[in-house]
Amino acid sequence: MRPEHMRPEDILVPTPDGVCCKLGGFHIDPTRPVDKAVITHGHSDHARAGHGAVLATPETLDLMRLRYGESFARATQAIRYGETLDLGGAKVTLHPAGHVLGSAQVAVEANGLRIVASGDYKNVADPTCAPFALVPCDVFITEATFGLPVFRHGDPDAEIAKLLRSVALFPERAHLVGAYSLGKAQRVIALLRKAGHDKPIYLHGSMEKITRYYESRGIDLGTVALAREAKKAEFAGTITLCPPSTLKDVWSRRFPDPVTCFASGWMRVRARARQHLVELPLVISDHADWDGLTATISATGAAEVWVTHGQEDALVHWSATRGLKARPLDIVGYGDEDESDGATEVANPGEAP
Ligand SMILES: [Zn+2]
Ligand SMILES: [Zn+2]
Repeated sequence: MRPEHMRPEDILVPTPDGVCCKLGGFHIDPTRPVDKAVITHGHSDHARAGHGAVLATPETLDLMRLRYGESFARATQAIRYGETLDLGGAKVTLHPAGHVLGSAQVAVEANGLRIVASGDYKNVADPTCAPFALVPCDVFITEATFGLPVFRHGDPDAEIAKLLRSVALFPERAHLVGAYSLGKAQRVIALLRKAGHDKPIYLHGSMEKITRYYESRGIDLGTVALAREAKKAEFAGTITLCPPSTLKDVWSRRFPDPVTCFASGWMRVRARARQHLVELPLVISDHADWDGLTATISATGAAEVWVTHGQEDALVHWSATRGLKARPLDIVGYGDEDESDGATEVANPGEAP
């Protein structure tokens, strides 16, 4: 096939279960079990158990093992950032997505045409993962979790400063920070350390395995202890990370007069903060905001944009007004990790949190 006759759909075909590469015989982040899957990152809506072969970064494979056990797939193959594999004539390269540890954009190239499936991404510094890499391409497949102009996340360091001011103001109270277990919790801890907070930080038991894994990959989180191993009085003036769903359950009663906080891009919406009974909303997101999404789309130079999940319509419309060809992909089954908070799926079975 000559390049001028190559269409993007000859390389990747959108299906309701995820985009599929016919040349290479693989799906990207499929939502049902398939023979061959390329997985962008470890969040459970993208990384599912039960595929035949899984290709992903070493970190994503490790996180899938932690979450699902050794036999989560029949076979696995690790591929590092920047390494290229030829799968049936399709050249596959993974590039950092800046979303969580190990997260990757998947570049698929054939006959001079390059499509980049970004998975979830953010173009903002994060001390716990490799920074987003801009990959020029012909077609860019983007998420749209925060794809509305109202979403501007602002400076995460300013949110951390807000949290530390509250801790200083209420030294007799505990601060409970609801945060997604994979990525967000570790990023909040790292941001607190960067801001100079050097007291022990406590963890809900369901976050232990993933947090220890981050540490094993060389991410310095300072002294991190398990909340269940401390006494009530010890929590005064300290910060504890926990899944958002535990903020209001009996578990929180072990803390003295807790200030409930929630670290999420959704905290920009006051109604959401109220709905979660959050006293101190912290706007910290692992997804690109509106400015991040639109700046990234422009910077890729892509003439065509496919939008996977979230607020597709506004982003498709924005792309069209910029003269880009754009379409929503209508894939069913991708969610938003801050909405499902992952507390149950990563809990150690048989162990009290
Ligand atoms: Zn994600
Ligand atoms: Zn997602």
